[in-house]
Amino acid sequence: MTGRNSASTLAARSLRSVWHPCTQMRQHEQAPPIALARAHGPWLFDTGGRRYLDAISSWWVNLFGHTNARINAALIDQLGQLEHAMLAGFTHEPVVQLSERLAALTDHALGHCFYASDGASAVEIALKMSVHAWRNAGHSGKNEFICMAGGYHGETVGALGVTDTPLFRSAYEALLRPAHIAASPDARRAGPGESAADVSRRALADVERLLQQRAGHIAAVIVEPLVQCAAGMAMHDPAYVRGLRALCDAYGAHLIADEIAVGCGRTGSFFASQEAGVWPDLLCLSKGISGGYLPLSLVMASDAIYEAFYDDDVRRGFLHSHSYTGNALACRAALATLDIFEQEQVLERNRQFAPVLAEALQPLADDARVRHVRQRGMIWACDALIADAATAAGFSRRLAEEAARRELLVRPIGTALYVMPPYILDAQQAQWLGQRLHTAFEAAMDGKEKA
Ligand SMILES: *Cc1c(COP(=O)(O)O)cnc(C)c1O
Repeated sequence: MTGRNSASTLAARSLRSVWHPCTQMRQHEQAPPIALARAHGPWLFDTGGRRYLDAISSWWVNLFGHTNARINAALIDQLGQLEHAMLAGFTHEPVVQLSERLAALTDHALGHCFYASDGASAVEIALKMSVHAWRNAGHSGKNEFICMAGGYHGETVGALGVTDTPLFRSAYEALLRPAHIAASPDARRAGPGESAADVSRRALADVERLLQQRAGHIAAVIVEPLVQCAAGMAMHDPAYVRGLRALCDAYGAHLIADEIAVGCGRTGSFFASQEAGVWPDLLCLSKGISGGYLPLSLVMASDAIYEAFYDDDVRRGFLHSHSYTGNALACRAALATLDIFEQEQVLERNRQFAPVLAEALQPLADDARVRHVRQRGMIWACDALIADAATAAGFSRRLAEEAARRELLVRPIGTALYVMPPYILDAQQAQWLGQRLHTAFEAAMDGKEKA
């Protein structure tokens, strides 16, 4: 079979039997999915032999490239020892070591790790833990949540309740128990003469208003610290997270940091909360924690939360479980990921690389048709300046297609285009990415004018 044929065959077979995520399947009539054969480093290779630079880390999960030699070796070793066993009543080295090492990374402020498989489950766990901890402490009236405008925490029913993305929510509104939505801290909302800190102050005042209004009912405030990624890489002042910590302390609410996307070094420090200088009561981690290899998520909890469940009464325990809780292979991939962080000084390397990435994207940043150029660590984003909503609607798809034609995998969110590359990108690849993304952007914008 020739490359091209096998590519179209696999894509066609996929469309007959695979229901792709976050996709209107009919759109694949025009543009079928790209059928991948293999991947290495930052590159994906399709069945026809074409390559694509994975500039968005495969939906923000891949940190150290595909088919990474060190993570592969760790997994092969683990496969010969223990692939998986139930975590109720049993334990094993990978899950213990991972919990110990993560706890140490928080200086034991968050010393108790509860495991699940995907991000949305971690959010569900954090929400349930918060409410149950309050209930165990005699505050069963505290069962409501505050979330942020534009915030995203996953798409299971509980997580959707604290997610403010109309596109993902509206069809399921009848199933949801909606949270209170506080004003967005997005720095792009600054008025003339205002700073990001001013926007954050206003947004905090709105959280305080809700805490006052629903006094005695709010169990927790949930936030994506520093960057609301799914909102289109909306960034805010770290002072906002500090302010939330202070408000939660003042009004008796837990602070849940959803670091599923921003954790694992993405924003600069290992945990984004560290840049704000505060620890939440509960912290959700997933995506990058297994290096992008296997589904793994976890919730890290403070001693105070953990102790609220510690009792002789079974019903006061946290009776939540998933079949693959603490999967040994996934934990081992996470340990290999932490090893790479330590042994290759990844945080330091990222700090030095962030300006290199910015420089590579400067031609796009200088384009008169973009605005709100922004960066936090290994996330770079800008917004396309498109006047009318109708052409803005097709922009992200046009840009993704133009980029794919130029061997680049990007997936804009509305008019926000961003790169969130694996940490192994080198300066030359960044340059190449910057040039290709800019020409793809020009083509997508010109396509608009002709349409
Ligand atoms: C991706 C994401 C989730 C959901 O994780 P899944 O593994 O896709 O369920 C939750 N919160 C944030 C901030 C995310 O980026």
